[in-house]
Amino acid sequence: MEEMKCIGCGITIQTDNPKKEGYTPPASLEKEEVVCKRCFRLRNYNELQPVSLSSDDFLKILNGIGTKEGMVVLIVDIFDFNGSWINGLHRFVGNKDILLIGNKSDILPKSINPNRLTNWMKAEAVKLGLKPVDVLLVSAYKGKGMEEALTAIDTIRKGKDVYVVGCTNVGKSTFINRIIKRATGIGEVITTSHFPGTTLDLVEIPLDDGKAIYDTPGIINDHQIAHHLDENDLKAITPKNELKPKVFQLNAEQTLFIGGLARFDFISGERSSFTIHISNGLTIHRTKLSNADTLYENHLGEMLSPPSGESIDKMPPFVRHEFSIKKAKTDIVISGLGWVTIQHPNVVVAVHAPRGVDVVLRPSLI
Ligand code: GDP
Repeated sequence: MEEMKCIGCGITIQTDNPKKEGYTPPASLEKEEVVCKRCFRLRNYNELQPVSLSSDDFLKILNGIGTKEGMVVLIVDIFDFNGSWINGLHRFVGNKDILLIGNKSDILPKSINPNRLTNWMKAEAVKLGLKPVDVLLVSAYKGKGMEEALTAIDTIRKGKDVYVVGCTNVGKSTFINRIIKRATGIGEVITTSHFPGTTLDLVEIPLDDGKAIYDTPGIINDHQIAHHLDENDLKAITPKNELKPKVFQLNAEQTLFIGGLARFDFISGERSSFTIHISNGLTIHRTKLSNADTLYENHLGEMLSPPSGESIDKMPPFVRHEFSIKKAKTDIVISGLGWVTIQHPNVVVAVHAPRGVDVVLRPSLI
């Protein structure tokens, strides 16, 4: 195919991969003016499609923002807080005010205290070098908390521009599309003149006072568990509905496998209960600690799945994280997969998770 450029954004048109930049359905090539699917949806439906970038390219864009005035809205996935964190962001935000938004609150079980979650997020953010002005939980998908988020943005921005940043899959497009719909009905907020110069650029959503909300491309965090899985497996680990906690009474030297994606060993301590918060679509297998290695070797990809199919080979090897837990009600968070609440004090446990996937402790959210 002769190289064609999208008249909207200038990206090279391709017809092979609907998920990659520049995609257009083959039939549209017949048209006089070819636009990529993303620009088509933007132009006709005022809808933004996610664009993603490697961290290097993304940091270049952030560099450009660094010198401008404005506030930053950082969106993270509450189910993958550490995995969806943008490393190095603090170097670029300068003295801009930051609103930290945890998306996907609809999956939290009722037993969770949201204030505990936002307090933990705030403390983690500070550890990672950012001090947000405020932390809010929303469900962009269900529209929950969106009014509060918009009010907070309007207060914090003090008449300045707004830059929305987040890594892929946190729900940034869902969030932005909600804002656009709310601001416009089906109005003409994003017009051709506001098309990005290239897809690597910022997309501008004008505000009434002459300022704008800028959507930045989603950064790809390679170490997220999501990137090691194919589409079906990803569906299985991504919670779509409120999590249903599962309680296990274990004796020392027992092991739980979460599919074949993580392993939880109860090494020593009195008989205790452990509550697992993971997607309802994942299966947990219990076995003896002494059998765990063999079970994994023999049944990975079948009984212990996901991963399945090609994802098995893409999965990085397990890394073992051991914890001696003194306090009752401690969560061990496996970023992107869920968390285990340790109900009783004085236990030693170990979590095996794919290399690169963060495993961290926090006080229980209940
Ligand atoms: P982006 O890559 O950050 O732009 O993310 P998208 O907006 O494309 O969303 C990524 C995935 O997360 C999609 O499968 C969405 O359906 C899902 N998602 C987005 N927002 C929410 C939410 O509030 N709750 C839940 N449960 N899923 C969400």
